[in-house]
Amino acid sequence: MTLFLFSLVLLFGMGRYYYLHAQPRSEAFAQSRLLLDTVVDIQVLSSDEQRANQAIAAAYAEMQRIEGVFSRYQEGSQIFSLNKNAGIESVAVSSEVRDMLQRAKEYGLLTDGLFNVTIGALVDLWGIGTEHERVPSENEIRQTLPRINLAALELDQTQNVSITQPGGSVDLGGIGKGYAIDRAWQTLKDQGIEKALINAGGNIRCLGTRADGKPWRIGIRHPRQEGILGVIEVTEKAVATSGDYERYFVKDGMRYHHILDPRTGKPAQGCQSVTILAPTAEMADMLSTAVFIMGADAGMRFIEAQRDVEAMIVGTDGTPVFSAGFVLSAK
Ligand code: ADP
Ligand code: MG
Repeated sequence: MTLFLFSLVLLFGMGRYYYLHAQPRSEAFAQSRLLLDTVVDIQVLSSDEQRANQAIAAAYAEMQRIEGVFSRYQEGSQIFSLNKNAGIESVAVSSEVRDMLQRAKEYGLLTDGLFNVTIGALVDLWGIGTEHERVPSENEIRQTLPRINLAALELDQTQNVSITQPGGSVDLGGIGKGYAIDRAWQTLKDQGIEKALINAGGNIRCLGTRADGKPWRIGIRHPRQEGILGVIEVTEKAVATSGDYERYFVKDGMRYHHILDPRTGKPAQGCQSVTILAPTAEMADMLSTAVFIMGADAGMRFIEAQRDVEAMIVGTDGTPVFSAGFVLSAK
């Protein structure tokens, strides 16, 4: 009898608890970490603190795993060994790496070779963002350009991949962050999270909406001034911005930044920044780099011909242009 009463009280108590919290208030749980050479913020909206923190930890772990696989600087990573064996022999990679390289080749075709993951040798030559940054001579650039060769990245039906070009080097800097964000996004979802935002240094993907059911509001930085150009509203999708103001140095009044045009071997000159709205962070990351190299006019024509992507391009004169579906609201 005592047990029966006790159970009733417990049930009643629980029932009341659930009644009162039929729509539990969700709180924001946020963390920041240094990963992928940038600051990665993850914000989760949830009524369950433990679940939120567990999910955030799992998402960071996934991003760290990806960095360990795709970084060309981490000795022992698959990309590191692929590059080390350029012009020597093929290496066996995981299906994840193979699929990523396959997509990277397709992105090269899509963008007329402007998005080119075999850009590594040029990135090293300029050393932008490192202590070795300098303006190389025309001769050095000319000698390096043949090493930027997407056709020399060979994939077959097996999981063996090779770079047949001696001195060739794969650099996933223009796409890796996007991929890592998509994987972290999926990890949050798998952990039962419904509302979240992941921001890796301006590469963003949203999950669901904000707590009030409204879209996430994302401020887009002005490429030349303090503050933001405006705000875009995003649900589910990804946003990425590539700019000439993130990693650069100035020499003799010229700005040299880290987005390199494979046609010239030099930093692309066609705009100040490109913001892309796309279904996935990988697409947004890749397209922001590629459209930056295309420049404002060709870049906008390219974007208007793609489905499901929108862009804002800030031209060399600082004027923004927008694709038909890109809505920038006031701050
Ligand atoms: P960020 O990494 O600052 O977000 P991007 O997404 O625009 O900027 O990527 C720039 C990085 O992409 C460079 O640091 C380099 O690693 C790589 N990269 C540079 N030029 C190219 C190119 N033409 N194609 C593909 N990747 C490139
Ligand atoms: Mg990019």
